[in-house]
Amino acid sequence: MNRRQFIERTGAAVGGLALPWPAASGRVMTVTGWRNQRQLGFTLPHEHVLVDFVGADRIAPGRYQPEEVFRLALPKLLAIKQLGAQTFIDCTPSYLGRDVTLLRRLAQATGLNLVTNTGYYGAAGQKFLPAQAYTAGCRSGSRASMARASALVL
Ligand SMILES: [Zn+2]
Repeated sequence: MNRRQFIERTGAAVGGLALPWPAASGRVMTVTGWRNQRQLGFTLPHEHVLVDFVGADRIAPGRYQPEEVFRLALPKLLAIKQLGAQTFIDCTPSYLGRDVTLLRRLAQATGLNLVTNTGYYGAAGQKFLPAQAYTAGCRSGSRASMARASALVL
């Protein structure tokens, strides 16, 4: 499945975030809990607080100082909130620097809705895919298609 087919089949559109957003339930899970659609407000749909391009085989705790990232990111997030943003979707996937604890601290400190993801990033010769991306189970579809779909989302 190529990107266009994925987008057509899932109803997603890149660039304008015409994803099935929010979910049919009218709620979205943020790093601090569920929000109703009306609470999302102005949304930044594809952002990154932190990204580490070292690769899935080398990424490990201690490659950055969470407190330093918090200190650097906080004023920037407060500034975008002051400009009217209410929701920030952090698209940094696992094995590329996603830090849910850090995102939660930033959400609590800023009052922004921060949303993260559960996907992997498959570009650059699969450098950012951990071995379990090819072996982990999923509820539907094949393991390989799950890895490909995750790689296509970002
Ligand atoms: Zn991105």
